[in-house]
Amino acid sequence: MGVNVLTMKRNGALILCYHRVAESAEDPFFLCVRPDNFAAHLEEISRAREPSTLADAFLPSRRPRVVVTLDDGYRDNLTNALPIAESKGVPITVFVTSGMVGNSNGFWWDRLGALLRSRPPHVREICLPAGGRDVRLPLGASGIREDLDSVRRHLLPLRVAEIERALDAVSDQWQVSSASPPDAGTLTPEDLLQLAASDTATIGAHTVDHVRLRDRPMQEQQDSISASKRDLEKSIGRAVSHFAYPFGRRDDFDDHSVDAVRSAVFDTACTTIPGTARPSADPHRLPRRVVMDWGRLRFKVQLQRWKVG
Ligand SMILES: [Zn+2]
Repeated sequence: MGVNVLTMKRNGALILCYHRVAESAEDPFFLCVRPDNFAAHLEEISRAREPSTLADAFLPSRRPRVVVTLDDGYRDNLTNALPIAESKGVPITVFVTSGMVGNSNGFWWDRLGALLRSRPPHVREICLPAGGRDVRLPLGASGIREDLDSVRRHLLPLRVAEIERALDAVSDQWQVSSASPPDAGTLTPEDLLQLAASDTATIGAHTVDHVRLRDRPMQEQQDSISASKRDLEKSIGRAVSHFAYPFGRRDDFDDHSVDAVRSAVFDTACTTIPGTARPSADPHRLPRRVVMDWGRLRFKVQLQRWKVG
């Protein structure tokens, strides 16, 4: 039928990881890519690469495949990312934190950013729970970035409910709001349906509460992973076959997490371990490249640097 199989190669796939597509004044964790930059990235992908989904990532193709994924389930994935992806003809996979759908509090790291930005000047420390007792971390010694990093690092291994309680307590103590910024909202149930209804978007799972899986008890990991799949499938009425590990670096999940993802019967699972996904790769430990708010030229250079195939 005119397709010359000799020109079809079985390449690796470059899987890109985005979080938010938004203009945001406050973005301490570098999660936002501005809409004009996102549009330029997708144009470059469709010009020079084969825009692909995770399902077809390893099928033979003439051009190296690139898969665009977005983590967490921010509302701007529907309002900003989807229209751009549709207009550029580039499919996107959105890994949704199922328990955050319709949760108006927002993610804890966004709450933490808001809290530290409104720290009263006389407050020079923050009191946080640690293994059944409280520790005090100094604040304000250098900049807000350093404060954010040290507090975030401390909170990361805790259960999400415990993190939320700690932020509530600090917010009470300091008498300041810890509401996440209004533009950092998560998808509502209606948004999720709208996103899932688009032919351009695939919904993937990302645990129920974005817990850092590593070292959590095995049962807890299994519950959060399988419940996120089940809840999302129930909401959108179709199979959810792809997963992304929260935070996703080598030290953010463990072998139990991978076992739990396999036994929940996900086809693929993405990490944020940098690399190109080879056809021989473990489908439940796929590497990804995290994309920053780069302009077109910088993104083009990165695409070339990140070897595919
Ligand atoms: Zn995430």
